[in-house]
Amino acid sequence: MFETLSDRLTSVFSSLRSKGRLSDADIDATTREIRIALLEADVALPVVKAFVAQVKERARGAEVSQALNPAQQVVKIVNDELIEILGGETRRLRYAKTPPTVIMLAGLQGSGKTTLAGKLARWLREQGHTPMLVAADLQRPNAVQQLQVMGERAQVAVYAPEPGNGVGDPVDVARRSIDEARRQQHDIVIIDTAGRLGIDQDMMRQAADIRAAVTPDEVLFVVDAMIGQDAVTTAQAFMDGVGFDGVVLTKLDGDARGGAALSVRHITGRPIMFASTGEKLEDFDAFHPDRMASRILD
Ligand code: GDP
Repeated sequence: MFETLSDRLTSVFSSLRSKGRLSDADIDATTREIRIALLEADVALPVVKAFVAQVKERARGAEVSQALNPAQQVVKIVNDELIEILGGETRRLRYAKTPPTVIMLAGLQGSGKTTLAGKLARWLREQGHTPMLVAADLQRPNAVQQLQVMGERAQVAVYAPEPGNGVGDPVDVARRSIDEARRQQHDIVIIDTAGRLGIDQDMMRQAADIRAAVTPDEVLFVVDAMIGQDAVTTAQAFMDGVGFDGVVLTKLDGDARGGAALSVRHITGRPIMFASTGEKLEDFDAFHPDRMASRILD
């Protein structure tokens, strides 16, 4: 994960190791290298600019420290700024005062949404919740069945339209699922919605209709981290078309660069809440900006 950026930054820092004090020229050279490292990691340009400006300002203003040498000081500044750009504090799920808490998932087809639904359900079940998965992706053949398989693996209930009743209306399914969850005393409902391979107005409208019908406590935008900076464009389209409260990054295990992770928070103003790191249900956790920054600088 993020190997390229890690390697790059490590070499930037090691070139500072022999310095007793950082001149303005050293700071300029260092921030130039950091800029290149971020651009190579496919971080969106406005994010790179903001990041580098912040590091430069802090490095210039840094006191001569007894405890930290210049290289360590720069590492600390970069670490702090990485945490910041990744969202600062861990953003936890907001639960409804009166159950069920409704979580809606939105994202492109192939982003890992259905897998994520299973992972999130399992994660919540392990914390003592009684989630129910809802198959409101009625677009893709097999999507309902795939969610049912996820439900079995995660050992949680799945609400799906009856087979044989035609395709069904996803808004209706989502709405009915809430009543059903209440009846069966599930405290959390996770609604899987339809995605397309590309951004598509009908899909956006459907997701927006589901959102309007069930007023979720959290709308999570699920995005494949491996698409890098394209994640930013997709995120903006979903922001405009549906709106969301938080981001879930999937396939981080295959992401050698880190552009999506480092860009999406700054660009959308929405926190990364969860991260998926593999195909198994256990490859999933809450997203912690500080831990991610440490991994990058490890
Ligand atoms: P959906 O179309 O958005 O519902 O996507 P799926 O959940 O069907 O996932 C698409 C593919 O990505 C499947 O082959 C998943 O096994 C795979 N996948 C999902 N999440 C991850 C992840 O975090 N890491 C890896 N390596 N593969 C994943």
